[in-house]
Amino acid sequence: MRELLLVRYGEIFLKGLNRPVFLRALVKRIKRALHDMGATVILNDSRIFVSDYDDQDEAIRRVTKVFGVHSVCPAVEMPKEDFKAVAAQAVAMMADLRGTFKVSSRRSDKRYPMDSPAINGAVGHEILVANKNLTVDVKNPDHVMNIEIRDHAYLYVKVVPAVGGMPVGTNGRATLLLSGGIDSPEAGWMIAKRGVHISAVHFHSYPYTSDRAKEKVLDLARILSESCCGIRVHIVPFTKIQMEIHEKCPDEYTTLIMRRFMMRIAERVARIEGAEALITGESIGQVASQTMTALGTTDMVVSMPVFRPVIGFDKREIIDIAEKIGTMETSSLPYEDCCTVFTPRHPATHPKMDKILEGESKLDMEALIQEAMDGIEIVCC
Ligand code: ATP
Ligand code: MG
Repeated sequence: MRELLLVRYGEIFLKGLNRPVFLRALVKRIKRALHDMGATVILNDSRIFVSDYDDQDEAIRRVTKVFGVHSVCPAVEMPKEDFKAVAAQAVAMMADLRGTFKVSSRRSDKRYPMDSPAINGAVGHEILVANKNLTVDVKNPDHVMNIEIRDHAYLYVKVVPAVGGMPVGTNGRATLLLSGGIDSPEAGWMIAKRGVHISAVHFHSYPYTSDRAKEKVLDLARILSESCCGIRVHIVPFTKIQMEIHEKCPDEYTTLIMRRFMMRIAERVARIEGAEALITGESIGQVASQTMTALGTTDMVVSMPVFRPVIGFDKREIIDIAEKIGTMETSSLPYEDCCTVFTPRHPATHPKMDKILEGESKLDMEALIQEAMDGIEIVCC
């Protein structure tokens, strides 16, 4: 007999032809999440089992963060032949519980001498006899004693919910514009949840933005990485571009022109990374550069889709999610961002295209972009 984790994944995505691809990707992602724990991850009969770990709580914590995992069940694996022993184990696992319960068994080994109703009845009876604090409720029980008869018998009661989504890498790649704020890490998390492998671009305006501000962004990438399976963060030196814009372009247009630079550079990084889309943490009307007109002028400079998964969320809703996914605390640290350092007093909320183009015509855009690209530092998180 031994303890292990039974990993459950979303059934919906598994009906089609891509089922083996999905499962292989998921196993790979779980292995990566546990790589330094010496755990064994195996795929057996469409079930994923994790075993041989020292710290079960830590193993559960990590596996429940992997996209594609819907729940994790700490289980006991034992020989199925001795049914009395299986029933005794079920009794032991229910010993401290009170309230209502049912036994739910599944028999994928159809040669097993007892069928599911017989197992449910026999084990249920033993539990009732042994634990006077439990009664049966098959419709809405407080506890379910699950028994799966496969190559072995697997028993579990506890089900720990996980993040859900699809395994990272099964739905292509996208590049996230990652600031140190609350919105953009969450935006990246949401797209990665759909199985998209993300890389990140961060614009850094040293010395106007400090090394600690950069470290904060890398810390956010590390938090995301627990679910996103590794993020390559491209740190782009942005000071020169910002200084030039500040010097040569009309004050109320500096933010927008800067954002258009960000998009252009992010798109180039995306192409190098094999990504097909960009992701930002913008939300309509949050700041002047996020009016619909302003967003339109930034979309215009790129030819790949731009995903903004928090576009319709209020700040409060964004914060609630950030707390749930574990980025809020780090995002709240008070370091400056390049967007805030050079904020104009009256940014244009209804920008005119000719004014933007006139501003940009004063800059040697290609040279500036190339210089920024050449100065990129890549950090793997
Ligand atoms: P906040 O929670 O402070 O709003 P934010 O990340 O949304 O954080 P904004 O100033 O609203 O910051 O910027 C809008 C979007 O532009 C961000 O969501 C992010 O995608 C991108 N962005 C802003 N600053 C940077 C930066 N320094 N590097 C990379 N992307 C950035
Ligand atoms: Mg924002």
